[in-house]
Amino acid sequence: MVSLVSSPLRAILWDVDGTLAETERDGHRIAFNTAFREASIALHWDAEEYGNRLAITGGKERIAAALQQLRGIAPDRAELERLQAAKQLHYSALVEAGAIQLKPGVAAMIAAANAAGLRQALVTTSGRSAVTALVRRCLGSLAEALELWVCGEDVARKKPDPQAYLLAMERLALPPAAALAIEDTGNGLQAATAAGLGCVISLSHYGGSESMQRYDSALAVVQGFGPGAQVIRGPACAAAGVGLAYLQQLAAGRG
Ligand SMILES: [Mg+2]
Repeated sequence: MVSLVSSPLRAILWDVDGTLAETERDGHRIAFNTAFREASIALHWDAEEYGNRLAITGGKERIAAALQQLRGIAPDRAELERLQAAKQLHYSALVEAGAIQLKPGVAAMIAAANAAGLRQALVTTSGRSAVTALVRRCLGSLAEALELWVCGEDVARKKPDPQAYLLAMERLALPPAAALAIEDTGNGLQAATAAGLGCVISLSHYGGSESMQRYDSALAVVQGFGPGAQVIRGPACAAAGVGLAYLQQLAAGRG
């Protein structure tokens, strides 16, 4: 095992959607569809179609683009606000109802990093209400391990812009070499690397369907964490399973 003494790793920065849990396919997508149906808007995104919509980051931006495409004119601000608010309520209700679970190995990785004295943060450009619902329902007491949340409300520019990561590093007062980002998409990877951070891709339903070339600048691409997890691309894992020791190994290999 790589010890803390030899690894520069001091912090782990977690993306939320698709990284902690399959929130996009099983949560946000369903919530958008319910909000559209309630408002009698003829939009319904199946899992595949929603994957294409994810190219637009930000819920409100995604709704605006779809309505513009549907009607040929841009929606007004009040309608957008209304739809986004309804969608957020539906999302929180889905999470509260237990529709979403953490991805394999995520809870164990957060616990292990916490036990090893690493600092951890959530860095997302999703809204704080969605993050709150997920953390409360899925993380329980592990939430205390996450000392900082940077959410969509905290930044002017969403990922792939690096602003959210730059803000997180400023608040943690750490140099980029001391932290790793965990992401699941090319957009997230771009945001993290533009902030100078090493980034590990933990494949999600949608991230897994992107071209692997999009992940060329990632330190590694993994399928899950823990004993049953696999390294898809990147240095071989020195220890068994994709655990904290692997992240420490990757951080040490950056220098
Ligand atoms: Mg993500």
